[in-house]
Amino acid sequence: NKITIAIDGFSSTGKSTVAKQLAKHLGYVYVDTGAMYRAVTFYAMQNGLISAVDFNKEALIYQLPNIEITFKFNEALGFAEVYLNGVNIEKEIRNLEVSSYVSKVAAISEVRQKLVEQQKKMGQDKGVVMDGRDIGTVVFPDAKLKLFMTASAETRAKRRYQELIERGDKVDYKDVLQNVQERDYIDSNRKDSPLVKAKDAIEIDNSHMTLDEQFNKILQLAKM
Ligand code: C5P
Repeated sequence: NKITIAIDGFSSTGKSTVAKQLAKHLGYVYVDTGAMYRAVTFYAMQNGLISAVDFNKEALIYQLPNIEITFKFNEALGFAEVYLNGVNIEKEIRNLEVSSYVSKVAAISEVRQKLVEQQKKMGQDKGVVMDGRDIGTVVFPDAKLKLFMTASAETRAKRRYQELIERGDKVDYKDVLQNVQERDYIDSNRKDSPLVKAKDAIEIDNSHMTLDEQFNKILQLAKM
């Protein structure tokens, strides 16, 4: 009997790393919902709808039907990569520029409606590990296992900084920390589906946990 596992939490709490590992081990599908919000943001950037000085929300809402987001499993990587209108954008959506706009895009109700509808179709009793901000509260309120990951802002910024450096991006630690804190603030305070811990979610603070420790703890919970 396959279950739905919902993993929510603040930015860079290591949700996707442990979710991927878990999905692989259980033979489940892993869905990175953050990648979907990032894909919409990337579309807005490409089409001149969002920049440091301007954000044309109305145009983005109007163009939502032109945005098709799909996932395709990459055997070599061991997880599904995200595609925007048929083009693989997995790498392009991870940079600090996309990160700096994504929470504003994710605060738009019409954007959320579209993506939540697609996410609901991707799971429920099919064996899914889905990570995001509203999975246990909105997308799968009946999920068998709900986790809420936390870690200090500094721990999270250090992890994200390390990831960006490893990719070859030139970034300052203080900008990464600021971005993490800014997204947490916007995600927690937006009107539509703000980031909150679901009542029945189990909180895991992984500030001082290794990946193995997290994985084993969650696997244990999944088997209960
Ligand atoms: O998970 P990731 O950090 O890639 O998500 C990027 C952004 O997308 C988040 O900061 C948040 O604004 C938005 N998001 C969301 N709901 C989700 C997943 C992501 O609002 N389920």
